[in-house]
Amino acid sequence: NKTTVQQVTALENGQTNPLTEKPYSEHYRKLLEQRRKLPVHFKRGEFLEMYHKYQVIILSSDTGFGKTTQIPQFVFWDEYQSKLKIACTQPRRLAAKSAATRVAKEMDVALGQQVGYKFRFESMQVESETQLVYMTDGKLLVDAMMDRTFSKYCCIIVDEAHERTVPTDILLALLKDAVQLRSDLKVIIMSATLDTSKLQTYFSSPHKAPVYHIQGEAYHVDEFYIRGPAQSESSLNQGEIIQGESSSYLEDSVRIVEHIQAHREPGHILVFMPGESDVEQACEKIRIKCQDMLVLPLYSALSSEHQERVFASTSKQKCVVATNIAETSLTIDGIVYVIDCGLAKEMVYNPRARLRILQTAPISQASANQRKGRAGRTRPGICFRLYTQDMFNQLQPCTTPAIARAELKSAVLQVQRAGSFDVWAFDWLDKPAPEALLRAIEELKDMGFLDQHAKITAQGRQAAESPIDPIWYHTILKGITYGCAMEMIAIAALSSTQNSIFVRPFEYRYAADIIGRPQFAHPFSDHITLLNAYSAWSQLAKNVDKASWCEAHGLSDRILREVGSIHRQLRFSFTSLLNKGDLQPAKFSDPAFVTNIRKALAAGLFFQSAIRIKGEDRYKTVPQNFEALLSPESALVGAQHEWIVFTEFKMSAKQYLTTCTRVEPEWIMDLPYFAENRMLKGRDGRVKQEYVQQSFARVREALEDELRAKDSTIEE
Ligand code: ADP
Ligand code: MG
Repeated sequence: NKTTVQQVTALENGQTNPLTEKPYSEHYRKLLEQRRKLPVHFKRGEFLEMYHKYQVIILSSDTGFGKTTQIPQFVFWDEYQSKLKIACTQPRRLAAKSAATRVAKEMDVALGQQVGYKFRFESMQVESETQLVYMTDGKLLVDAMMDRTFSKYCCIIVDEAHERTVPTDILLALLKDAVQLRSDLKVIIMSATLDTSKLQTYFSSPHKAPVYHIQGEAYHVDEFYIRGPAQSESSLNQGEIIQGESSSYLEDSVRIVEHIQAHREPGHILVFMPGESDVEQACEKIRIKCQDMLVLPLYSALSSEHQERVFASTSKQKCVVATNIAETSLTIDGIVYVIDCGLAKEMVYNPRARLRILQTAPISQASANQRKGRAGRTRPGICFRLYTQDMFNQLQPCTTPAIARAELKSAVLQVQRAGSFDVWAFDWLDKPAPEALLRAIEELKDMGFLDQHAKITAQGRQAAESPIDPIWYHTILKGITYGCAMEMIAIAALSSTQNSIFVRPFEYRYAADIIGRPQFAHPFSDHITLLNAYSAWSQLAKNVDKASWCEAHGLSDRILREVGSIHRQLRFSFTSLLNKGDLQPAKFSDPAFVTNIRKALAAGLFFQSAIRIKGEDRYKTVPQNFEALLSPESALVGAQHEWIVFTEFKMSAKQYLTTCTRVEPEWIMDLPYFAENRMLKGRDGRVKQEYVQQSFARVREALEDELRAKDSTIEE
C-alpha cells in the first residue's frame, strides 16, 4: 500500500473527501493552494521514496517549511490502510494543539476524528480510531513506558528534536531500541537545525539513518547589533538606530518598534522577550507609543483564544511580542522584522543546592539565528539584536540539552519503569550530569520509589505512571497517611498547572493582590490558601455565574477549570489506592484539619524546606543555606514562621520562595532525610549546630539528644 504523489494529488484534487465522504469545503481548497507552496510539498515524492526505504529518517529544514503540518499528512495517506496510529510529538502543549487544529482544517475533518491531540491531563480530542495524534513528548513517553514496542503505532514522528527536551531524549533512546524489536515501526526525527550529526551518529546502528535536508527559498535577513561600548565606528552597521544608551532590552525594543513604524516599510514585527512579564510590559508600552499597531502577546500560559489571535490576518501592522515559543514551534506569516533581546527563561537544576531555579539566561548562537530566521520568510527581512556583535560571538554555539541541566527524578523513574534499565548505562544521547543523577536516585530512595539497589519499587512504578511529578505523588501518599488524601490531591492539582489560579493582570497586579488572595488566605499556608479558593469555587451554587464571581475574587475561571479537570483525573488515578474513608473530604471544622495538611506537606516536600534567619524576614534553605525571601504575595510574609516548606525557588532580581507552608521542626527532624543526612552533619558526625540552633531552642535539647542516640547506634 505504498502511495505515489500522483495518487495522493488526485485524491486531494477530487470533489469528495474520502475521510468524510462529503464534498470538500471552499476553505479546504484555499488551504490546499497555500500548502502547495510550502517547500516540503515539492519534496513529497522524494520523501515518500525514503520513507518506503528506511526505518529511521532524520529530516531537517528551516522553520515554516511545512514539517509539522505536512509530513504527518504525507505519512497519514501512506499508512491510511494500516489502521495503526501515527504520533507526532511536540515539546509544548500549545504547539501540539495548534498543529492538530490546523491539520484538521487542512484535511477538512472535525478535530478529534482522524486528527487529534493529546497531552498530560487533556486527551479529549482523541477517539480510539483517531489515526494521526499530535501529542507532547512527555505524553508519548508515559504511554511508551508501558508499551515499549509502540505497538499501537506504525510511525512515530519526533518533531522539534533540536529542542532536546528531557522527554524527547528518553523517547529517542526508547525508539532506538524499539526499531530493533519491530521492523515495521518507522521513526522520523524532525529538527529545525541543520546540524544533525549527533543524531546521525546516535542512529547509525544497526542501520544508518539517512539525513534529509529540505532546502527552500529563504530571503536575506540583515543584522543590526546594538552599539557596544568597546566597538569601533567601522564595525557598526547603521548603529544610529539603536543609539547605545542601552537602558534595558525592554526600552530598546519599544524604541525599535517605534523606529520601524516611523521609518521602515510596513511589515509585521516579532519581538522576543525572555518571560511572560516582560512580554506583557513590552506590549503595554508599545500600545501606548504605536497606536495604529495590532500588538499581541504570545506565551505558552496564554489561553488558546488569545494565542490564536497572532495567526489572524489583519490590515494593520502586527507586532507580536513572544517568549521563545515563537522561535521554532509556531510560524507567524508575514514577519519582516525581528527584535531579539538575546535572553530566555530557563529552568536550571542545581544538584548541589537541590534547587530548581527559573532564571533568565543568554540564548545560544543557534537560537539567535533561529530567531533571526523568523524574518525573511516571504521577503527580505531585518533582525535587530539588542546586544553587541562581541556578545554574539561569545554566546555558546548550541543550546545545552535539557538533560544536562534538569532535575532528574521523573527521568530516572521513567527510564526504570520503561525497562529496568540501569540509568548509568542507559543509552543517552547526551549523558546527564552524574551529580544530578546521583541526587535523583538518592531522593527517589528516600521517597521509597527506588529500593536500596536503585531498582524501581511497586510504588515507584505507580509514581512513574502517574501524570504528576514524583514529589507530588509522594505528597499525596503522605496525605493518605495523615487522613487528608482528598485535600492533598487537590493541592497537587493546584500545583500542577503552569499558572496560578490568582490572576495578576499586569496593569492591575497590585489591585488584584488585594481583592484576591486575602479573602482566602491562611496565615500558616499558601497551599491552604489555594485550596480555600479552589473549594469556594467548586462549591458555588449552579446558578452562580462563575466567570463574574471569579472576576470579583481575583481568580481565573479558566485556570480553575483546568485544576478541576486535573483534580478529577488524579482522583480517578488514585481510587485504587484509597479506601472508602479516604474518599471523604476532611472536615474544615475538625481542629486537626489544617495540621494534618501541614504535616502531609512537611513529610512530602521535606526536600524543599527553609528556616528563618534570626530577626529577619528572610530564609535559608535547609540544608544548603541558600538565602531567599518569601514571594511578596505569600500570606506568610511578615508572620515570622521559623520553618517552612516551599514549592518553588525562583530567581529573578531577587531570590524568592513561592507557595510556602509553615511546618513544625519536630515533624521533619524525625524524617530519615534530616536525621541521617550527611549534609546536616559536621565532621564529627553531629548535626551541625547552625541548623538546629537558629530556630529551635524549644526542641533543640530533645533533638540533639535524639540525634546523638541515633548517631551512636550507626557509628561503626
Ligand atoms: P515547520 O514545522 O517546518 O516549521 P509548519 O508545518 O509548522 O512548518 O508550518 C508551515 C506553514 O503553515 C507556516 O509557514 C504557516 O504559513 C502555516 N501554518 C502552520 N500552522 C498554522 C496555524 N496554526 N495557523 C495558520 N497558519 C499556519
Ligand atoms: Mg515545526
